Amino acid sequence: MSESITAKDRMRELEAEVRKHQDLYYVKHAPSISDRAFDRLYAELQQLERDYPEFASPDSPTRSVGSDLDNDFPKFTHTIPVLSLGNTYSTAEALAWARKHLQNDQEVVDIQWKVDGATLVLYYERGVLKRAVTRGSGQVGDDVTANALTIQNVPRKLKKPETLVARGEVYMTYADFESFNETMGGVYANPRNLSAGSLKHKKSREVARRPLRWAAFDASFPEKKGRARPKSDRVRLELLRELGVPLLPDNAFVPGTELEQTIQDFEKRRDDMPMPVDGLVLKIDDLDRREILGATANTPRWATALKFEPEVAETRVLEIEVAVGRTGRVTPRARLESVQLAGTTVSYATLHNADQIGRLGVRVGSFVRVSKRGEIIPAVEEVIEVGDGPEFVYPDKCPSCATTLVREPEAVDWLCPNPECPDVLLNRLIFFCQRKQMDIAGMGEKICRILFERGFVRRLPDIYSLHKHREELESLDGFGQKSVRILLDGIQTSLERPFRRVLPSLGLRELGPFVTDVLLRNGYHSIQSIQKLVKKKGARDILEKIDGIGPRTSQAIVDQFRDPGVLELIKDLKKAGLQFEETAPAQDNNQYPQIFSGQTWCVTGSFESFHPRELAMEEVQKRGGRTVSGISGKTTHLLAGEGAGSKLKKAQELGVQVVDEPEFLKLLKKKK
Ligand SMILES: [Zn+2]
Repeated sequence: MSESITAKDRMRELEAEVRKHQDLYYVKHAPSISDRAFDRLYAELQQLERDYPEFASPDSPTRSVGSDLDNDFPKFTHTIPVLSLGNTYSTAEALAWARKHLQNDQEVVDIQWKVDGATLVLYYERGVLKRAVTRGSGQVGDDVTANALTIQNVPRKLKKPETLVARGEVYMTYADFESFNETMGGVYANPRNLSAGSLKHKKSREVARRPLRWAAFDASFPEKKGRARPKSDRVRLELLRELGVPLLPDNAFVPGTELEQTIQDFEKRRDDMPMPVDGLVLKIDDLDRREILGATANTPRWATALKFEPEVAETRVLEIEVAVGRTGRVTPRARLESVQLAGTTVSYATLHNADQIGRLGVRVGSFVRVSKRGEIIPAVEEVIEVGDGPEFVYPDKCPSCATTLVREPEAVDWLCPNPECPDVLLNRLIFFCQRKQMDIAGMGEKICRILFERGFVRRLPDIYSLHKHREELESLDGFGQKSVRILLDGIQTSLERPFRRVLPSLGLRELGPFVTDVLLRNGYHSIQSIQKLVKKKGARDILEKIDGIGPRTSQAIVDQFRDPGVLELIKDLKKAGLQFEETAPAQDNNQYPQIFSGQTWCVTGSFESFHPRELAMEEVQKRGGRTVSGISGKTTHLLAGEGAGSKLKKAQELGVQVVDEPEFLKLLKKKK
C-alpha cells in the first residue's frame, strides 16, 4: 500500500473522529476526550491536508468551525461572523505569531483570559438587548434570548442608547458551580459543560436557577455619522465598560517587547482564577491593522489562542468501584495507581455515572488520563489504552446494604432507597459536621467514622447526646480528655448556627445553600413555615412560582417534607436545641459587636475566606447588619469578591460603599 493511500484513509478517519467529538462537545455538552486530545486529532488532520491537498475533502471539518446548533431553537444569522481562533500550546509559537504579524516591537497586543465556557453574542439596538445568540456554526446561531435574560449580569439596557454587538462568554465560577452542584447531588462534571448545557435548556425558569455569568471579550459598533470609529480594541472595550457591559477581568494591552513577560505573569495567576480558564487570547490591538491582516477560511490572522497544558496525569485503573453518597446516590469511581497531579497524590478519580463509563469505554487495567481543574475532584478524561480487565457491569444492589438499587426519576443515576443504609447514614453525618455545613470542631471525617462504627452516633440527633458518654469517649483509643472536650464544645457551639446554615446541613436532596436562600428570601423563615406549606394541596405549584425553584426542586421539597423519617429527624434535632427559625439578627449574639447595625449589605462574587458566600452574610447579620440580594437605593454597603460584575457597577453608580475581602476581614476584627 502506498503512503498516500494510507494518508487518504487516515484523513477520512480523522474527519469522522473530529466531527464526532465536535458533536459531543458543542451539541451534547458531554465531551468524551480532553480538549488536548481533540486538538491533537484536529492538528493531525490539518497537517495531512497541507501535505496531501489533493485528498482534502471540500467539506472537511477544518474548513468550518464546530457547530453548536440545536433544532429546538430559532436560528439567527449573525450580522458579523463569529470566528474561532487558531491555537497553540506553545509560548514560542505564540511569540512567533506575534513576530510575524506585528509591524514593529512597539505595536500593542491585547491579552485576555480565555474563559472556558460557551460563547454568547448579544445584540443591542438603541441600548436595549434585542437578541442573544450562540456561536452556532459561526454564521448562524441559536436564538437563546429567553435563557440569556435570566443571567443575572447580562444588562437588559445599556447606559446609553447605543447599537452594538457584544461577543462574550457564558461561564460559572468554581465556587458557584460547587455550591450549585452540591444541591443537585453532584451530577455535573464541570462548570464548562454545565454552562454550555444551561444555555440550551428548554426551560428558562430552570436556567434562572443556575449561577451563570457573562462577560464580553469583543464588540463591534456600526458606523455612525458624527462619531469617530474606535481605533483600537482598548478604546472599544473601554466604551463597553462605560455602557455597563461586564468585561473579563485583567485585560492587558502591552507592546510586543513585553509580551513574553506578560504571558508569564498571566500563567502564574492561572490557578487563582475564580472561573475555569483554558488559555490566553492574544490579539493585535489596532483595528485598522486587523482589517488589513484579515482572516483565513475561518480563523482571523490578527488573533491567536495560547492554550494552557491542562493539569493531567496518566496512570492505570486498578479497580472500578461504586460508592453510596449521603443522598443515596450511587457513583462509580476508578481506583488508580497513585499519581502526582497538581501538587497532590491522586488515587481515585470520579467516573460520574454509568453512562460516562460507557462513553469512555474504561475498564480495569485501562491506561487513562486524569485531570484536575481548580477545586473540582479529579476525573478520568480519556482512555489512552484499553485494559485487559472485564467490561464493567454496573451493580444492581447497594454495595453497602445490598438493597436493590432504583433508577432516579428523570436522571441517569441509581439510588439506594434504604433510609437505614449504613453508608448513607455515615456520609450524612460526615457532611453535617463539615466546615462548610455545621462546622463542628473536633468532628472531622475520621472521628465521624469512629463514632459511627462504635455505635455512638447513627442518626444526626445522636451527636447531641454524646455528652452523656463523656467518660466512655475519653477512654477510647486516641481520644483522651482534651480531644473529648474540644469535641463536646464544638457540638455545643454548633447549636448557635443559624437556620440558613442548619437547613442545608441536613443533606436533603436539592436543599443546598442556594435553595435555602431562595426560601428565606421568599418569606419561609422557619421549618414550620415550610412544613405548613408542604401540607397544602397545591404546594408544588406554590413553590414553582418562586423564582429559582424548578419542578425538580419543588418535587424534592414536597416529597422529603412529607416523609415521616425526615419529619422525625427534624423533630429530634429541634429537641436537641438546633435553630429551625431565622432569628432577628440584632438579638443574635451579644458576643459580636454590633458594628453593622443600621447598615444594609449586599454580598456578591466569590471569596477565599467565605465559601459559600452565605458565610460572609452571616458575619454581617451577627454584627447587626441586614443582608439583601440586590442593590437598591437602600443598600449601604457592597461586599465585592472576585468576579463581582454588574452589582459592582451598580454600587458605584448609586454611590454604595464598596468593601473588598481584606477590608471586610479587618472590619470583622473590630471590637467596637
Ligand atoms: Zn444501601
